[in-house]
Amino acid sequence: MTDKILEIENITVSFDGFKALNNLNFNMDAGELRVIIGPNGAGKTTFLDIITGKVQPTQGRVLFQGRNLRRIPEYKIARLGIGRKFQTPRVYLNLTVRENLDLVCNRNKNVLSTLFSRPSSSDRRNVAGLLETIGLVAKADLQANLLSHGEKQRLEIGMLVAQSPDLLLVDEPVAGLTDEETENVGELLLALAESHSIIVIEHDMEFVRQIARKVTVLHEGSVLCEGSIEEVQNNPRVIEVYLGQ
Ligand code: ADP
Repeated sequence: MTDKILEIENITVSFDGFKALNNLNFNMDAGELRVIIGPNGAGKTTFLDIITGKVQPTQGRVLFQGRNLRRIPEYKIARLGIGRKFQTPRVYLNLTVRENLDLVCNRNKNVLSTLFSRPSSSDRRNVAGLLETIGLVAKADLQANLLSHGEKQRLEIGMLVAQSPDLLLVDEPVAGLTDEETENVGELLLALAESHSIIVIEHDMEFVRQIARKVTVLHEGSVLCEGSIEEVQNNPRVIEVYLGQ
């Protein structure tokens, strides 16, 4: 068994000759919360795409818990325990908060039976725990379209966690949120980091400071540097890349 949740070795992704990722190497221990930053076009989205199997690398390999993900389809990679949260919340707007969570807690059951039958007591316990974690107990019976953008983000994070992933990939969770909502999402991610490995892609440096322990900077498809937020911010190469934008 490896204590590395993720090992990415010499990954290159070429789109018609253009290298979106260029010989990228990246390692992450189980239990880490890692923040990935980098200017536009640095390769951050493609980096998530090669982990989830959305994009196949031209070269190199991705190991998840020691297992090579090569040619494993996206839906199977999700079942292996990798959950991805996209930038815009993908929740069922005409269902209540609780029904959204019920749906994923009952994932392997028939969708109709989930909606029309009473959830089992263990499912009810799971959903109650999740509502608590995401801070939406008081809004459990509200239709999701009535939630604020930040609450929708937290609901979707809850829906991902309901699927018990070992690794959570979270793409810009606070874009467009108020300061207070941003802080709430940060607290949620920090709480989840107690029991999950998490990668967050983020632009908002204030938010990065709130949650980051270790930061990886991507630039032109490779890792430019890694370290604490202070180390990264004081790195002359990072300053140059950001000032050059
Ligand atoms: P980031 O998320 O850091 O902004 P991306 O991973 O989206 O960067 O993109 C990295 C580079 O690869 C960009 O220059 C982008 O235009 C290019 N790219 C991404 N996906 C494709 C694609 N499907 N076809 C061609 N070029 C792509």
